[in-house]
Amino acid sequence: MENIDWKNLPFGYFKTDYNVRCYWKGGKWGELEISSSEYVSMHMAATCLHYGQEAFEGMKAFMGKDGKIRVFRWEENAKRMRRSAHGIMMAEVSDELFFQAITTVIKMNKKYVPPYGTGAALYIRPLLLGSGPQVGVKPAMEYLFMIFVGPVGPYFKGGFSPVNIQLVRDYDRAAPQGTGHIKVGGNYAASLRPADRAKEEGHASVLFLDAKENKYIDEAGPANFFGIKGNTYVTPASDTILPSITNMSLQVLALDMGMEVEVRQVTIEELADFDEVGACGTAAIISPIKKIEDRETGRVYEYCKDGKAGSVSTRLYNKLRAIQYAEEEDPYGWNLVVE
Ligand SMILES: *Cc1c(COP(=O)(O)O)cnc(C)c1O
Repeated sequence: MENIDWKNLPFGYFKTDYNVRCYWKGGKWGELEISSSEYVSMHMAATCLHYGQEAFEGMKAFMGKDGKIRVFRWEENAKRMRRSAHGIMMAEVSDELFFQAITTVIKMNKKYVPPYGTGAALYIRPLLLGSGPQVGVKPAMEYLFMIFVGPVGPYFKGGFSPVNIQLVRDYDRAAPQGTGHIKVGGNYAASLRPADRAKEEGHASVLFLDAKENKYIDEAGPANFFGIKGNTYVTPASDTILPSITNMSLQVLALDMGMEVEVRQVTIEELADFDEVGACGTAAIISPIKKIEDRETGRVYEYCKDGKAGSVSTRLYNKLRAIQYAEEEDPYGWNLVVE
């Protein structure tokens, strides 16, 4: 613990002292428990192991400029986890339980919240699992809600830097009318193969198209996609996209900066018309994209020709970051101070 190199931490698992757990049995949630074990003991017929009854969340706590710890928009994560639970028939976690769990796990692991100025944050990973046994395809009768945390370094070690991504047509992340709009593990399993191939081929991530028509931009791997065209922030509307809380927040900031916001279908051809494009999510806020390569046609779309992120993306990124670290006011009430 003594000498954590905060600035160079990867985005990865980091053992901390405690995690919190709550069990749903007999139709209700029990008391929140604090655990120091990294392991979960589970029935071998648990539905999360067989039938994918599993959902998760990802959020961060930040040490602010004023020395206070803040969590960003936790109610949105709580709401989204309920939508995920509803979508795959799991017990739903109330705001009250979610709040108690995040505040407890943060307080118990206070010493792992990276100091202000390092660019690092405490990553918070809530999990909801079908833990009760079933062999027939049915929802479990028991659930486990747990949260672990761990410090993660700044996403961009050498500053805010643009990445290359690969547009793929031979893999889909999620099916229309399927589970793309909820944060369930199965969607991620489906994305591992194309993501691995893209990395082998020199790209940071994959850009998926809509699975039905293969015509519209869907998601950029585990992040939402957006483009800037003149004074407009454009982001795809699709039932298979996971509604990103970062994306929602960037849209609010864009509007407040006097920009227009369009949430609509975005065709592949339109990639040629954007001044800036990026991927957004909790991990990086914004990953500016410098090049999109269509793997099948070989067509290349280039941005950030000077090697730097675009000015609008940079402004949006700096603004959101400043609110999270309490360098600027939070007029939206997005931050919860954990005392
Ligand atoms: C979690 C996630 C995102 C990002 O959402 P944030 O709330 O901004 O972190 C985007 N796409 C997918 C598929 C995700 O699972």
